[in-house]
Amino acid sequence: MTETKRQVAERPKPIRNREKPIQKVRFWVQTAFAALCVWIGLEMFLFVRYLESNGQTTFIERPPGVDGFLPISSLMNLYYWVHTGEIHPYHPAGLFILLAIILMSLVFGKSFCSWLCPAGFISEVVGDLGKKLFGKNFRVPRWLDWPLRSLKYLLLGFFAYSIFFLMNETALRLFLDSPYNLVSDIKMYYFFADISRFALIVIGGLLLASLFVRNFWCRYLCPYGALLGVVSLLSPHKIRRNPISCIDCAKCAKVCPSSIKVDKVRTVVSDECTACMSCVDVCPIADTLHLQSLVTRKRVNKRSVAIGVVAIFMLVTGFGMLTGHWQNDVPREEYLRHQEYLDSYGHPTRTQDISRLRDEDGAEGAFQTRDGR
Ligand code: SF4
Ligand code: SF4
Repeated sequence: MTETKRQVAERPKPIRNREKPIQKVRFWVQTAFAALCVWIGLEMFLFVRYLESNGQTTFIERPPGVDGFLPISSLMNLYYWVHTGEIHPYHPAGLFILLAIILMSLVFGKSFCSWLCPAGFISEVVGDLGKKLFGKNFRVPRWLDWPLRSLKYLLLGFFAYSIFFLMNETALRLFLDSPYNLVSDIKMYYFFADISRFALIVIGGLLLASLFVRNFWCRYLCPYGALLGVVSLLSPHKIRRNPISCIDCAKCAKVCPSSIKVDKVRTVVSDECTACMSCVDVCPIADTLHLQSLVTRKRVNKRSVAIGVVAIFMLVTGFGMLTGHWQNDVPREEYLRHQEYLDSYGHPTRTQDISRLRDEDGAEGAFQTRDGR
């Protein structure tokens, strides 16, 4: 409905938004988390070097934080924990990292993606570079954007179906107890350290796509983001626009990395909103755009989001550390023994293989071996 001249004249005089932007803080939080991931990578390199030397070099402990890069194993551990009340001992840190990220999404929406995730950070940096090179980030037309966005949900659906519908307690235990699960972090290390030409082409393609379309991987393909997007819909904190003071400049929609039409809605209810606060920062009018609790109706300060996200992550992972569910207690001798057979361990590749895990006797052969046995 268009406003009458009188209504326009009666609008309160706009007051300039003088609040300090939070984007620099967000950048430094992302940088610190990315640096932590590099540190984990370095420790993993030293741990694997020890295994490769058959125990001849200095022993460096496996960094438990590497479990955060095993989301499927962590999701299975979460399901196993719910089923049995036990935390599987191979990758306990992964469970607490997953819990921290889910809790973060419940409180502040998909905030992990824009505040902590290293892949999201790289996507953003590449997107910024693309903007500098081409003067803008391109937007995928709506008719193509929708089907592409559903891809990440299809991937999530496949994993959820395989874990929650095809696996019973026996199957979960067989998978989690398998040598493949134990060394999956080492195998992931080799995936990057000894990267295949095909994987390089795929990663190069994704980076190239992110140069043109902001957050290409996150928006269309990341199943982790899809899971957090679903959880985020339950979050009571949403971006709210005050249509009375809004001057319809559309700056918020233009800056939104998730292409949300912030200027057209009263409340942003979207699985794509990452609580990045870019729209709130850019809004030129005071008290017009902010994060608000739909429960208390109170406004949430931008700094509280930054502190809240980091605090949730530290508290939940810290709880894991304090309760002894962080580093696994697998002896180094066991890792040395598995290192010899590493190439022969593979994961189940077909849904039939996963179904076979349900039956302990029939599970033989579900885990792929190099020679196809
Ligand atoms: S709506 Fe605002 S907070 Fe949400 S993704 Fe867009 S710019 Fe970020
Ligand atoms: S940035 Fe968005 S919310 Fe703020 S005044 Fe412009 S259109 Fe309105």
